[in-house]
Amino acid sequence: MATEIRVPTLGESVTTATVSRWIRQPGETVAADEPVAELETDKVSVEVTAPEAGTLGAHAVEEGSEVEVGALLATVEPSASGAVAPQARPAAGAPDTAATAPNRPATKEAPPPADVPPSSAAPAKPPPPAPTDAPAAPAAEIGETDYDLIVIGAGPGGYVCALRAAQLGMKVACVESRATLGGTCLNVGCIPSKALLQSSESFHEAASGFAEHGIMIDNIRLDLERMQKRKASVVEANVRGIEFLFKKNGVTWLKGLGRVTGANEVSVGDKSFSASTIVVATGSDSISLPGITIDEKRIVSSTGALELDSVPKHLVVIGGGVIGLEIGSVWRRLGAEVTVVEFLDRLVPGVDGEVARAFQRVLDKQGLKFRLGTKVTEAKAGESGVTLTMEPARGGEASTLEADIVLVAIGRRAVSDNLGLKEVGVDIDDRGRVVTDAHYQTSVPSIRAIGDVIAGPMLAHKAEEEGVAVAEILAGQAGHVNYEAIPAVIYTWPEVAFVGRIEEELKADGVEYAVGKFPFTANARARAMNATDGFVKILTDRKTDRLLGAHIIGPDAGTLIAELVTALEFGASAEDVARICHAHPTLSEAVKEAALAADGRALHI
Ligand SMILES: Cc1cc2nc3c(=O)[nH]c(=O)nc-3n(C[C@H](O)[C@H](O)[C@H](O)COP(=O)(O)OP(=O)(O)OC[C@H]3O[C@@H](n4cnc5c(N)ncnc54)[C@H](O)[C@@H]3O)c2cc1C
Repeated sequence: MATEIRVPTLGESVTTATVSRWIRQPGETVAADEPVAELETDKVSVEVTAPEAGTLGAHAVEEGSEVEVGALLATVEPSASGAVAPQARPAAGAPDTAATAPNRPATKEAPPPADVPPSSAAPAKPPPPAPTDAPAAPAAEIGETDYDLIVIGAGPGGYVCALRAAQLGMKVACVESRATLGGTCLNVGCIPSKALLQSSESFHEAASGFAEHGIMIDNIRLDLERMQKRKASVVEANVRGIEFLFKKNGVTWLKGLGRVTGANEVSVGDKSFSASTIVVATGSDSISLPGITIDEKRIVSSTGALELDSVPKHLVVIGGGVIGLEIGSVWRRLGAEVTVVEFLDRLVPGVDGEVARAFQRVLDKQGLKFRLGTKVTEAKAGESGVTLTMEPARGGEASTLEADIVLVAIGRRAVSDNLGLKEVGVDIDDRGRVVTDAHYQTSVPSIRAIGDVIAGPMLAHKAEEEGVAVAEILAGQAGHVNYEAIPAVIYTWPEVAFVGRIEEELKADGVEYAVGKFPFTANARARAMNATDGFVKILTDRKTDRLLGAHIIGPDAGTLIAELVTALEFGASAEDVARICHAHPTLSEAVKEAALAADGRALHI
């Protein structure tokens, strides 16, 4: 007799759901517990599984229909043998966890298996982390779980980890509390800032660059509302793209705030889910200074600064780092007076000093003003603006500065509070970062962490690489990130991009090094583009010629650096780079010439 498949209970207050996708079609054979349909509510996305093996009957409802809890979805006619091989999920190289227990209910109705700690009972101090080369995947040691992997946070670290794990055959859920996927990067970080940087660069070029090319335009006007709408549509396209990828790869999005309630348990709202492994990818949040309250109106974080609906007359940026200079550049190009107040005596700490000085000179020419070595002690927001009180960083007389908007861009802090991590025994350092070993394992072996919430540069691509590495480690592969070859880019005009070591470090370490430099003024393409600010600087080991670091300030530096990242990754020498044929006329010839210059034989200067 046919067995019915009905809409399962989806939560206390949930009575209906939408059939977002039929995974299996009428007439197809299905294994017991194999997902046949996907349901979506505003809180959760759930797979409905076949109660037994057999042949799927007609769909009782169409894709996109709303269905009530308990409604009939389809029937299964049992196969003669009663057993059908599971289809599709585990891919080659899939971990044992998926291969041995591939079919689990998508939502948890029964209490956890006996050997999974109940959510309320935090275990005593967990065993110390396994050695870094210890095999991963503790799944085999615990009972059946809802998921092989639950990732908390769907930023570049979390969503990429979820996708890679799903590709490797794991059953994966990703918890995200925002209304859209993609984390800081896609929603309020990399993507909206680059959309506005692009628009403001076009505006500025039209207003003051085109004439040089003989293109005369009168009455150039700014439609900021339209510019902001374009930015929003770029963000929308990107975040929807991640939703599509989740569906394509069978990753379940658990909508809501996740909390770790046990070594293998995560609660989302009033539901609890178990997993063999939990990956914490909760990212970071902007911070403020003592005595300064961010109201996102007059005193804004990067999020508010990307949403302004009019161009400020005077924008003061507290912090001369990457985010402050990128967003400061946006509003400068659109007409704001911009003053950057920085505690240190220099901009962009961590960037090669020679590059940072050249960078400041170019920004200076663009009209950005700098107050370096200055400490902001107070910001008072009123009806029409903000009064900042400042004093020299080394001590001295206080002064004030009026602004209509103040952007606080002094850094970001890992999001590790209120997640239940300390309660289950996960070690957190004094900067709020989750402590991990080289395999991203925390002090609780079944919990790993990646991205901005752990140590290292707060960069989207660093988080992504860690996401892939963790998924591959869990699948028994050799996931690894080379931290010596992670590029960083500042998307101002000109761009600044770098990878590897800076000159100050080499000096401090007593390394014998050579410098190869080539300016864009001597590059034909840069001259044709009217974009000759900047240079390529290559640092090599004086004895072996091996590339140690590369620093570019100039047009499209963010793209040009990729070649030198590849070279560094492959342990290349400057001569290797110099002997590669570079197309003419391209900006990349400046990279080749800098590599030649490291051996004192640049051709075009
Ligand atoms: C203005 C700005 C511009 C930037 N530009 C660049 C750039 O050009 N290039 C670059 O490489 N980097 C850039 N960054 C940095 C980049 O955004 C971060 O390094 C990156 O997003 C980190 O990724 P992540 O996955 O670790 O965390 P995040 O992207 O921060 O994602 C974490 C996610 O976890 C969710 N979350 C947190 N706690 C919970 C919980 N308890 N339950 C459920 N969900 C939770 C959050 O809602 C968030 O969506 C920029 C940042 C900013 C602010």
